[in-house]
Amino acid sequence: MSELIYLDHSATTALAPEVLAAMMPYLAEHTGNPSSVHSVGRRARQASADAREQMAGALGCQIEELVMTSGGTEADNLAIVGVARAMAVRGRHIITSEIEHHAVLHASAALTTEGFEVTHLPVDRDGLVSPDDLRAALRDDTVLVTIMLANNEIGTVQPIRELADIARERGVTFHTDAVQSVGQLDINVDILGIDLLSLSAHKFYGPRGVGLLYVRRGVALAPMILGGGQEQDRRSGTENVAGTVGMGLALATAQTEREDRVLTSSTLRDRLIEGIEARVGGVIVTGHRERRLATNASFCFTDIQADALVISLDLDGVEASAGSACNSGAVEVSHVIAALKLPQEYLAGSLRLTVGAANTPEQMPRAVDIICSHIERMRALPPRNRLT
Ligand code: PLP
Repeated sequence: MSELIYLDHSATTALAPEVLAAMMPYLAEHTGNPSSVHSVGRRARQASADAREQMAGALGCQIEELVMTSGGTEADNLAIVGVARAMAVRGRHIITSEIEHHAVLHASAALTTEGFEVTHLPVDRDGLVSPDDLRAALRDDTVLVTIMLANNEIGTVQPIRELADIARERGVTFHTDAVQSVGQLDINVDILGIDLLSLSAHKFYGPRGVGLLYVRRGVALAPMILGGGQEQDRRSGTENVAGTVGMGLALATAQTEREDRVLTSSTLRDRLIEGIEARVGGVIVTGHRERRLATNASFCFTDIQADALVISLDLDGVEASAGSACNSGAVEVSHVIAALKLPQEYLAGSLRLTVGAANTPEQMPRAVDIICSHIERMRALPPRNRLT
């Protein structure tokens, strides 16, 4: 088989060699606990502080406003459950959208057992939330709005500043899941105008199992993980120093290289979109045409079973995803695709291609050819054989 073409950067990215190199001393040599007073502990504490400085720089915030977590899922959970519980005396209504990651949808759904009510805002065919819908959904007992900056399946970028302003005018705390946005969009917290923001290092060439929640000074947050009081009592547990160091460098690098990455990725992305649209019919490009992540080329095809297509592509060296990789194995239509209200015949055939550092321009026409050949071959099969 010829060279693999990895088109699944939204699922995860490979750790950058320089990030691994920066982490190694804190895995193998300087293995102190930052809470210890002795010198090996102080060394770990300094490394963690330096990395937090890098992250605060990228976000335009104070170090004290960062809470390190085990990833994007925990950051989303802490934001939603933490704010809801801290604000429950004021009200028990949360607003989110229909196309959030399950980390947001399931965390907010779990709060219904504590008497919270959750409103899910719809999206239009491009995956955009309407500011008017948010305005209409806000109530006197609303305590939190959580809407993602960019969607992981279809790449649509929300008008977050406008949405956040609407919530904050009413005194309602606003959280955004920016897990897919690093290295592509401006994540300065004041420009975005948000109160809380989640990130995950493995989406931008950092380590898996490390994330952060930005919490604006003054925002009430009840901790979910209780113990030794680390992270200013907001998330207990011995710090992951190597992970923090890795995330700091990966985030700072993503910030410095953002313009270049956007240019390179959007060129690759457009080759995929244009190549596929030019060769096969019965296709809808999902997500907004302009307001989309530079890395995301996503589609729905008629007469295609997405899981069968992804398996066939894998056998031919193209690694892609049917809907969200986080739901992999699930045959049902993803909640994101379902929310777009596309014609029925497109729903089973959703394909997500996400480009990044593992790609070259030369790979794109080859990927287009392989993908389109499989689509043509599968469509030529009698319907009952399409899953084989
Ligand atoms: N939020 C979004 C938008 C994501 O795409 C993901 C991962 O796919 C997550 C949250 C969860 O992040 P993590 O894998 O770090 O738990």
